[in-house]
Amino acid sequence: EHLIEGRHLTKVYATSTGPLVALDDVSFTIREGEFVSLVGPSGCGKSTLLSLMGGLEERSEGTLTLNGEDLFKPRPDIGFMLQTAVLFPWRTVTENVRLPGTILNLDKKAQAERCAELIQLVGLGGFEERYPNELSGGMRQRVALARLLAHDPDVLLMDEPFGALDEFTRETMNLELLRIWSATKKTVVFVTHNIGEAVFLSDRIFVMTPRPGRLAGVVEVDLPRP
Ligand code: ADP
Ligand code: ADP
Repeated sequence: EHLIEGRHLTKVYATSTGPLVALDDVSFTIREGEFVSLVGPSGCGKSTLLSLMGGLEERSEGTLTLNGEDLFKPRPDIGFMLQTAVLFPWRTVTENVRLPGTILNLDKKAQAERCAELIQLVGLGGFEERYPNELSGGMRQRVALARLLAHDPDVLLMDEPFGALDEFTRETMNLELLRIWSATKKTVVFVTHNIGEAVFLSDRIFVMTPRPGRLAGVVEVDLPRP
């Protein structure tokens, strides 16, 4: 039930002007299948907390577990998506989406089918053979979303995934994400500084305060989903 559990998490960065406390004594639990948003002003440690959950950063103190296992390095059952898609420019849409399966050496035939379906699912049917520089920003994020799902991770960690897109495209992508989330029942942790967006998307909202980053409270959202 308690999929991800953080206890007394602290993160101190070494900087040129001395130690910087980015997270100070943060404790939380995230349940399986839940959609959680992390909100708070710039610099409050949202990305840092997400990076700890993704095993991309080392914590300074505290414990962090996934299903009771210490979470300290990237793992294939946790997917990560950033504000700007890092796509390989010399590879097509299909090749970019196939990449995780290739790296993880998954069954080629099953991956070919799954990735073709995912490309349809995110609305990129017909663009399979295009290269990233022939796509709009929104379409590139769709590629990143398909790639995020390619190897079927249980947990999706998303750091302002649509934050660089225009309002209309962002709302469209948010709706697509909710559709995918309710169809797949994945656990999502979604970073945003837009409270309206967090309310629209989430089951629960973790509200963070800056300097040093603390968890100020958890808001339960009980709104009907679109
Ligand atoms: P948010 O995502 O809420 O904007 P961050 O987690 O990016 O916040 O940053 C929290 C604090 O930690 C900020 O003061 C930021 O400058 C600092 N910080 C983030 N990453 C690093 C790093 N790699 N080295 C040093 N300081 C960092
Ligand atoms: P703001 O105008 O400050 O962005 P809103 O509360 O109007 O605040 O919306 C915040 C965000 O919530 C939107 O940018 C969008 O990401 C999300 N959102 C709100 N309504 C919808 C909707 N009907 N469909 C998809 N996303 C929505």
